[in-house]
Amino acid sequence: MGQIEILGIDPRCLVTEKLKAPYPLPFVSRRALKRVKERLAIPKFCNCCGGPVRLVNNMEIYGREYGDWPYAYRCEHCEAYVGLHPNTDLPLGTLADCATREARKQKKDFIPLIATQFNGDRNAAYQWLADGMGIEKRYCHWGIFTAEQCDKAAHFIAKKLRKTT
Ligand SMILES: [Zn+2]
Repeated sequence: MGQIEILGIDPRCLVTEKLKAPYPLPFVSRRALKRVKERLAIPKFCNCCGGPVRLVNNMEIYGREYGDWPYAYRCEHCEAYVGLHPNTDLPLGTLADCATREARKQKKDFIPLIATQFNGDRNAAYQWLADGMGIEKRYCHWGIFTAEQCDKAAHFIAKKLRKTT
């Protein structure tokens, strides 16, 4: 739903006073914000269903706090969610519903390909995948792929593996 926009480094990096942390985050670290070179806007509405999105402790999702930075953006309507970059309020990707989360797991077949086919050159591997999928490289992230795009990527990866084995 809607065009994904990849933004540059968060301008709050330049602010000198303590950053405001949205509930329930304990803080937002300027240094951590600076590490996120390609940023997605903070979601207000769900990219799966258009429902309202709330920042939550991921206890609401998993039943207990999970991970070192246990927060997520979660759709109140369809329960799609996405985690946050550590120590920030920035989403790791777009919200994923159950089908999308499942589809994104196909990334596991891509990781070994980076080593075996691209000598560990992540850039080259992602460029190849982007070209194959007909998208710009900056949009070539499993964290923002739709389920359909994941399947397309997986298909392309399988073809590459067949060709070289
Ligand atoms: Zn939703």
